[in-house]
Amino acid sequence: MSDIMAFLGLGSNVGDRQSYLQRAVRALMDVNDLRVVMLSPVYETVPVGYVDQPPFLNAVVAVQTRLSAIRLLAETAAIETSLGRRRSIVWGPRTIDIDILLFGDQVIATPELTVPHPRLRERAFVLLPLAEIAPDLVLPGGNMTVRALAEQVAGRDGVQPFGKLAWGCGEL
Ligand code: ADP
Ligand code: MG
Repeated sequence: MSDIMAFLGLGSNVGDRQSYLQRAVRALMDVNDLRVVMLSPVYETVPVGYVDQPPFLNAVVAVQTRLSAIRLLAETAAIETSLGRRRSIVWGPRTIDIDILLFGDQVIATPELTVPHPRLRERAFVLLPLAEIAPDLVLPGGNMTVRALAEQVAGRDGVQPFGKLAWGCGEL
């Protein structure tokens, strides 16, 4: 079976946010049958949904994997737990959130997993970093490129470029 390219959205708004993003990337690199192939720059965003919480850092990671989507979700959930994620308030503060944005061109609608991620098309903090690593991608069932979708939301939600993630174990 050939590998599928998936895009993961990372978010953190508790503690050393950039370090949590970096640790999540390193943990992904340690997952069997998965290769991290691209890292977006990091963006900072004011919270949406539950607004009384600190600003988020967000980034998007492209991976190639022969895991199934549900196995990938289990791996990302395990990484969230290992990085101290506690599920208390829905959309509330979190050390690390890892969402499956896209899984190849698959459309998945099960109780555990909705792919493409349901809020992907409206979230500047997802579309802007995604557009930096996959501008020409067209979402399943859509007809606009990620670049065009990102242009529609640019400047929304107070999203600002923040910095870069590192590949290795060096400084950020
Ligand atoms: P959110 O990311 O919306 O803030 P959580 O991270 O707390 O919420 O995730 C809640 C549940 O969402 C997870 O347990 C998972 O089963 C489900 N879920 C559905 N679709 C996805 C997806 N595409 N990526 C990650 N989790 C998903
Ligand atoms: Mg999540």
